[in-house]
Amino acid sequence: MKPIVLGNIFTILFGLSQTFDTKANSHLWMIPSKIGRITNKFPSTSITDIFGDISPVAYNERNLRSEKETFSYDESDPYGPQNWGRLSEHCDGSQQSPISLYSNDSLEIYRRPLRIQHLDTIPNSLTFRNNGHSFTITFNYPGSRVAAVSGGPLKNSYVISQVHWHWGMNDYDGSEHILDFRRYSAEAHIVTYNSKYGSLTNAMNQPKGLAVLGFLYEIDNSYGASDIPFGFLVENVIESGSSYVENSHLFSLRHIIQSMEFDYLSYKGSLTTPNCFETVTWIVSTKPLKISSHDLAQLRRIKDEKGKPILMNYRPIQRTNYRDVDKYCSQSQYTQKYY
Ligand SMILES: [Zn+2]
Repeated sequence: MKPIVLGNIFTILFGLSQTFDTKANSHLWMIPSKIGRITNKFPSTSITDIFGDISPVAYNERNLRSEKETFSYDESDPYGPQNWGRLSEHCDGSQQSPISLYSNDSLEIYRRPLRIQHLDTIPNSLTFRNNGHSFTITFNYPGSRVAAVSGGPLKNSYVISQVHWHWGMNDYDGSEHILDFRRYSAEAHIVTYNSKYGSLTNAMNQPKGLAVLGFLYEIDNSYGASDIPFGFLVENVIESGSSYVENSHLFSLRHIIQSMEFDYLSYKGSLTTPNCFETVTWIVSTKPLKISSHDLAQLRRIKDEKGKPILMNYRPIQRTNYRDVDKYCSQSQYTQKYY
């Protein structure tokens, strides 16, 4: 249940973002109280975005950088998904992502909860960015604090670098992973790196260097159901390469994830964009988040490097090649069986 926060600028902004929606049932935003508050006590003046994003613009290999061409999702493009191997040989590897996942066909079932540090901490600021391929958010915390993920399949602490989204041309097409034969409407990726490597750049091509938390979205157009107001978020980063630092209307990571009570599937895979490094421990929640058609449509407004709206940005399904997929349940009934 999400309480309405009235008299709040956040609410008004969200409300404005809904004005193009003709569906009466989604005009007014309902906001979780945790994110509804306006926090001005950490006025951040500048961002040292040490974690950046994982776009090839920032982290590509020499061959990609020199060609002034980046990957695309267009099958007819010379740098479309089937030809990403031209940009990085890793993209033709045997442990690529995304894959099809089956919640009832996983190898082990046990309970080992994930923990996220600073899940409820309101950051100093948020950096919204359009990297030409997706919309990303970086959380900038007070002091030198970082948010980290641990537990579950992770043997170490993994520092959260950024969150970005994948989507499709229509409401029923957009997630990268397919779960139980279903492609969901969108997918959020929380990109983290193994703290022992010190930075995303150092970690991304190292063994067990990265972990990505994936959250699938399903459409829910009922009143107040949508978990995220993309209209407000993307407004200042429509153009490719643009970024915007939000200092006032802040929210915690909880706003993205909602509850931590979810079962998840974990497997060894890769980044789903070039350079496709096979260094990712994937953690994909089987509990979908909610998004309205209106909010999903906001993501399709952002533009690529050619100035065209990014209508879809998910990679085709890759071969599983007999990789293990482990299922982790949040319910305690499995605890005694395996621990
Ligand atoms: Zn991604």
